[in-house]
Amino acid sequence: MNLQNKTSMKSINGQLYIENIPVIDLAREFGSPCYIYSYEIITNNFLKYKKETRKQDLICYAVKANSNINILKLLAGLGSGFDVVSGNELKRCLTAGVDKNKIVFSGVGKSYEELEYAVNNEILSINIESVGEFKRISKIANRLNKTVNCALRVNPDISIGSHKYIETGSKTSKFGLDGQSIDEILKFSCEDNLIKISSVACHIGSQISDENLILESLECIKSVAAKLEDNGHHIEFLDIGGGLGIRYRDENEVNPKALLDKVKNVLKNTNYKIILEPGRSIIGASGILVTKVEYIKDAGEKRFAIIDVGMNDFIRPSLYEAWHEVREVENKDINSHTYDLAGPVCETGDVLAENRELKVLPGDYLAFMDVGAYGSVMSSNYNSRLKPIELLVNKDAVEVIKRKETFEDLVALEI
Ligand SMILES: *Cc1c(COP(=O)(O)O)cnc(C)c1O
Repeated sequence: MNLQNKTSMKSINGQLYIENIPVIDLAREFGSPCYIYSYEIITNNFLKYKKETRKQDLICYAVKANSNINILKLLAGLGSGFDVVSGNELKRCLTAGVDKNKIVFSGVGKSYEELEYAVNNEILSINIESVGEFKRISKIANRLNKTVNCALRVNPDISIGSHKYIETGSKTSKFGLDGQSIDEILKFSCEDNLIKISSVACHIGSQISDENLILESLECIKSVAAKLEDNGHHIEFLDIGGGLGIRYRDENEVNPKALLDKVKNVLKNTNYKIILEPGRSIIGASGILVTKVEYIKDAGEKRFAIIDVGMNDFIRPSLYEAWHEVREVENKDINSHTYDLAGPVCETGDVLAENRELKVLPGDYLAFMDVGAYGSVMSSNYNSRLKPIELLVNKDAVEVIKRKETFEDLVALEI
């Protein structure tokens, strides 16, 4: 984690702060569990990209990392575009009032209705991931008699060495087009003048620890772009995706500047504009999840702190074996012990952290750090648990950006 991020989440005299507010005050006022985000960290992370891109380039924040409309508005205000992976993510962006000309639409399984919605809204680019999808878009474009800007999303067959669930650019993954499919689309596209292939895209996975892997994929999309141009297409954008890794524990954090210096160098004698699709690296470090210790349970071999956050609220540890730092919200003058932090959900896998040296008693609050990305968006109602409240802190100000779910919300659809 970089210095800037550390200063927005700091401990002073044993008190954890988010910006200028002690987290304990928020926990007492708004209850637990509670997701809290820092305005400053989101802004600074976005500006790190912005500073290194040129006027003609576009940063399309990956909405799926955290799709709260208030966060989309914040980023739109900084000039961000958006990468969406469903019709409803697109609808969220339009609801947030973002410029539709800055929206790209990725995903292998876009339905007819989702594509029609995107075509009608004339977004910047629909990123095609199969021959079947090309044909479906072609059908919609012809029926509506509308031109559609598209990208070909290429599968460059690069393995990034992160968790197998978050690799998307190797030959065996479901994402992107292989060489043969690109040739097929080229053939069909000659007979379809409503589909404009104006960019080539790639996203090789998440939590990438070496920018050179993205550079490799850039070479691949550059050569596909050249091929498309030989066939009469005008390629305006090269979209190198997102996936830059952050430091949860001791991972190598990819610096946007390191990546973009190299990308700009590769593209310096070309007219291509760059699109980036960062998600985690913008929102990940901005969020914490506050939890209360309900019980301390000594089980002989293990000592558990039973907390009020479960895998339904935050699934990354259970799903990806992800490690997240846990901090005391208030540091007490008591003995520390080694704890496993287990949630209330009736699953053996509902353990959110193991072997943590902590000073806690029942009733104390802890914070999971770096939960801004793939935290709240992956939460569920398993065990009929209600989704947490979410707050955005900006200096001394706090705003509720999502209210706590109620029992009535939970059963509302069960007619
Ligand atoms: C998930 C995703 C991203 C963002 O990935 P991060 O690791 O969060 O930066 C970008 N582009 C596409 C197509 C994605 O599916």
